[in-house]
Amino acid sequence: MREQCAGCGKAKPVNTRGPDGRAYCWSCAQKDARDPVADIVTAVTSIDPGLPADVVTAAAVQAAPGKMAVRKLAWALRERPALLTGDGASTTVLSVLRLIDALAEPARPGS
Ligand SMILES: [Zn+2]
Repeated sequence: MREQCAGCGKAKPVNTRGPDGRAYCWSCAQKDARDPVADIVTAVTSIDPGLPADVVTAAAVQAAPGKMAVRKLAWALRERPALLTGDGASTTVLSVLRLIDALAEPARPGS
């Protein structure tokens, strides 16, 4: 079954689908196999370059515990990076809100 790939735009056999149901071809699915936490770090640091990667990583893991959750969070941010800059209130992905909270209030010692 061929469908237009949401990654490269070509009509290719469907390898996998995103949480939004869009189709991805094999090569785009492989690209997506990269570490979702790295994607989240990229998304966050492109908006706030002052945040150290390890802080963002910790916040991402805290906001989205588990492989699927972290993947979903990475997807959401790739889809709409503006979620991190005020659009977050409109998201249905709760881990986005938790990530914003975690970044706004880094874990304090003793809390
Ligand atoms: Zn593709």
